[in-house]
Formats: sequence, structure tokens, C-alpha cells
Amino acid sequence: MTTVAEHRAAVRGLVESHWHPATEVVPLGAALGRVLAEDARTPIDLPPFDNSQMDGYAVRSDAAAGPLRVTGHVAAGDPITSFAGGAVAIMTGAPMPVGADAVVPVEAVGTPGDFAAVGETIELRQPVERGTFVRARGSDLPGGSVLLEAGATLGPAQLGALAASGLSTAPVRARPRVLIVSTGAELAEPGEPLRTGAIYDANAVSLSAAITLAGGIALATGVYSDEPGHLRLALEAAGPVDLVVTSGGVSAGAHEVVRDTLEPLGVRFGSVALQPGGPQGLGAITVAGAATPVLCFPGNPVSSLVSFELFLRPVLRGDRPMLRVPLAASVDSPGTKHQVRRGRLTDAGTVELVGGPGSHLLAAYARSDVLVHLPVGLSRAEAGETVEVWRIDE
Ligand code: AMP
Ligand code: MG
Repeated sequence: MTTVAEHRAAVRGLVESHWHPATEVVPLGAALGRVLAEDARTPIDLPPFDNSQMDGYAVRSDAAAGPLRVTGHVAAGDPITSFAGGAVAIMTGAPMPVGADAVVPVEAVGTPGDFAAVGETIELRQPVERGTFVRARGSDLPGGSVLLEAGATLGPAQLGALAASGLSTAPVRARPRVLIVSTGAELAEPGEPLRTGAIYDANAVSLSAAITLAGGIALATGVYSDEPGHLRLALEAAGPVDLVVTSGGVSAGAHEVVRDTLEPLGVRFGSVALQPGGPQGLGAITVAGAATPVLCFPGNPVSSLVSFELFLRPVLRGDRPMLRVPLAASVDSPGTKHQVRRGRLTDAGTVELVGGPGSHLLAAYARSDVLVHLPVGLSRAEAGETVEVWRIDE
């Protein structure tokens, strides 16, 4: 039996040896969630010039307490001026007059919003330290420095930082195209009437959503049959993709369509010491004329999503945020397998399990916000014992 760590490494090795994403340059408005293909440097200092952090008066830090004549007024967007002494009324974001080196907030010398006019005087109540309320040029990041490293996922702050640097596009990795194939003669398309003995295909939708959230392009197809010929036809009809993910038909039953079809093509099937998600397959097959990695997940909906979380998401998107949290109640685990349970963080700072260990309990999974890891060697954990959990509520 393979360990979870071994299978994770095998999946990573398989995917990374076949998938070499091209670089695409996309407008920032279309780059949300994309992965940066190369380091991004800011071409300009951030901020680009010394400016005021407050509405107030620009002064010199060597000015003594007492009256100061107002010698100018600068607003955000004004050009850089030179300091003519005394105090210069200055608005937030306005360039510091060259020669002034501190800002006194307006409320420290008078009524907020009520600025003295040029020629009037203000009362400096106490001397001010150099640099006070001045946002120095380059203090966030000097021009030419690396702003974001290759591999960074572009979220709101990352996109904002690129825009603040004046960049309008970003070089990002092409998204992996993933063909998702759910198999099983018992499956029916959601929205269709349910005949006796049938269940709805949950995996096509859940795996597609998981792939999309992980930055991939999901192409789903249902093979609602356990005939190897039907699966073969579906794979022959597929266009070029970077990866194939199948669900169902991988264990030891009489009609294991995925195993029966792909094992002769060189895909390896075996057991991982994992619950749920034990039976797994991986290998490479020819799709649209190209060697394409294929991962075969078990069909139970919880098993297939847990398989995605443990094996594929780390390769496509990186690790989930991990926490160590005390259990709200005791739990038993198989001990010889890495068990993954579904859970919810409580206001008390503990984690409570949602539903049992059964791999069909998708509704319970849907009410969960963490995966709870009970590793090999752990057969019981008491309330208050700390366990590793992964946040899945993104
Ligand atoms: P299998 O891995 O094909 O042996 O399937 C294991 C269990 O998962 C069976 O109870 C199947 O009916 C169920 N199952 C398989 N595929 C799906 C699917 N796409 N959606 C929901 N349940 C499924
Ligand atoms: Mg099946």
C-alpha cells in the first residue's frame, strides 16, 4: 500500500513532467486568480515621490514652537514645489515641498478642515520630528525591485500593487485544461428524472468547480455507463487537454470501467493508505495524439473531492492554509490509514466533526469548512487533543 506522501509526490511528478504551461500576457482586469509566470518588478519607486500622509502643514523639523507664516498651499496632483520657509498648507497625497521634512496635522494647529490662507500665521505648539507624516519616496518598494515573485497568485492586493506600479498587464501561466470524466451506469444528469437505482452525477460538477477554483479550465463529460468501449470513445473524442481526471470504476468490483479500460494502456492502479480515497490510479495515456497525464479518483463524491484536495490541488494551486486546532470531542480513526474527516471550526476555537467517516456523506461535507487530518498511527484522539486541519472555505 502506498502512503499519502508517496502518492502526492507521484502525482506531482506525473503532472509536472507533462505540463509545461506557456506564458500569456493578460490585462490586469482579466488576471484575477492567475499565477504569475515570472518575477514582476516595479519600474517606479513606490510611492514615486515624498508626499504628505495628512492634511496639515509642511514644515522643517528644526522649526521652533511658536508662530509660523503660511507661505504656500499644495494639493494632491500639484507639481513639486520648493519650500519657501514657514509652513505650507498641504493635503494628503500632495508632494512635499523640497526643503520641508515633516507634516503637522491641521488638527494639531487649529480646526480640522480650516486652513490658514497664505500670509496668515499658524501656531506650532511643539517642535516636530523629521519625517513625521511624510510618506517617503520608495518607502514601500524602491523602483527596480521585485514586487511579486513568479508563482504568486494574483488577488486584489497583488493586482493593486501591479497597477500602482503603472503596469497594465501581467505575464501569467496558461491555465491547465482538465478533462473530467465521471463514469458509472447508475449515474444520471442533474435536472433529468431519476429512474430507480440511479443517482445523480455529483462529481462532474464538484470536480469542475474544484479545478476552476484551483486555476484550471474544466471540461466535463459524463460516461454514464460501465462499458470500457464507451469510455474509450469519450477519450478518443476529446480535444487536446493537459490532464484527465476520472471518477469511479477504480476499485475491486465486477464492473470497474476505468481500471478495465486504462490498465491495459499502462495506467497503474493501487491502494493508498487513505480513507476516504483509497483506490487510486495514475499514468499517462494518449489524448488527441499527445501523451497526457491521467488521474483516476474513486467515485464516491467525498472520496473524489478529498482525492482532489490531497493530490491534485497542491500541484495546481499550492497547499491549503493549515491550522492546528483542538478537537471538540474525541474521535476514533483506523490507525493504519490516514483518515480525512470533515469538520467545522467553532467559536470556542475547537474543531467539531461534521457527519461520520462515510465517503457518500456529501451533504455533510457541504456544511464543513475544514478537512481534519487523522494520520497513520493515530487510532484515537481525545477531546482537546490538537489535530491538523486544512481550511477549505475559500
Ligand atoms: P465506484 O468508485 O465507481 O465504485 O463508485 C463508488 C460509489 O460512488 C458508488 O456508490 C457510486 O454510485 C458512487 N458514484 C460514482 N460516481 C459518482 C458520481 N459521479 N456522482 C455521485 N456518486 C458517484
Ligand atoms: Mg462505478
